[in-house]
Amino acid sequence: MPNRPDLGPPPRLGYVESSIDRAAQLRGDDAALARLWQNARTGVYAIGGELVVMKNFALADPLFSPAETASLGSARERVFLGLADGAPRFGIGLDAAAAEALKARDDLNIADLRSIAVLGLVDPSHLPPLAEAKAMLAWHAHHRFCPNCGSPTQVVQAGWRRDCPVCAAVHFPRTDPVVIMLAIKGERCVLGRSRRFAPTMWSCLAGFAEPGETIEEAVRREVLEEAGIGCGRVTYFASQPWPFPTSLMIGCHTEALSDTLVVDRDELEDARWFDRDECAAMLARRHPDGLTTPPPVAIAHHMIRSFVENGCDVFH
Ligand SMILES: [Zn+2]
Repeated sequence: MPNRPDLGPPPRLGYVESSIDRAAQLRGDDAALARLWQNARTGVYAIGGELVVMKNFALADPLFSPAETASLGSARERVFLGLADGAPRFGIGLDAAAAEALKARDDLNIADLRSIAVLGLVDPSHLPPLAEAKAMLAWHAHHRFCPNCGSPTQVVQAGWRRDCPVCAAVHFPRTDPVVIMLAIKGERCVLGRSRRFAPTMWSCLAGFAEPGETIEEAVRREVLEEAGIGCGRVTYFASQPWPFPTSLMIGCHTEALSDTLVVDRDELEDARWFDRDECAAMLARRHPDGLTTPPPVAIAHHMIRSFVENGCDVFH
């Protein structure tokens, strides 16, 4: 492969390697939580819908003191995220419209979490707790009423549970498993395009795992549904929290058993085969037609890079 570009050191995947100690033993201790909220080192992430509220410095600071949060408006929920080197971390949920209105303040920087990660607007150590806070607050925003009886539910356990006072049902925050996979045959792999992608971007196929399915079964079903290709071996690669709103991406490589693609045009704009050299050019942003992979914050980037570097050895 004489023309393959040097991809350099591996970039950092977004939202992973959290340094937060979740300190779950404190969640039921109201007196301890009250002290943590008063702690001089406490930092609070403020999120409204898709928007993260930050202080408007050159490298934006997403942490507020508890006193500073008063000027952001009333919080619908507060979640104890854990301890960062012993410093308490909380997330507060603002109404999406209230966060949008804060854009008028020039001492604040308001951006969505995808942009924050892709553009590097904050120190990378903030991305995992921001993902934790955003997913938790999104869960709260959609579970204010009991799915069992319809009554308003109450936040308990520092935000890690909602209880129904009428039917006594308890509700825990949920994470939705999504399989994301790179189907490989020899020197080629399948990439697809969703209509909502940037015009030049191609990525791995992906879809929600369904109830009653293993990860391997979900991978094979999704590739068959979206690209008409049967698959054999499935090898786990890595996982990534994906707080849009509450997913866990489960990255796998899988062995394609046939060549002819039958693209599901309801799901995808297109899908086709790419060889390792073409993938390498896309990763390096040197493709002659300007085609690209997703950025390094996304697990797809790393799954494609692993195939470029290792070929079918990804299965060993
Ligand atoms: Zn209920």
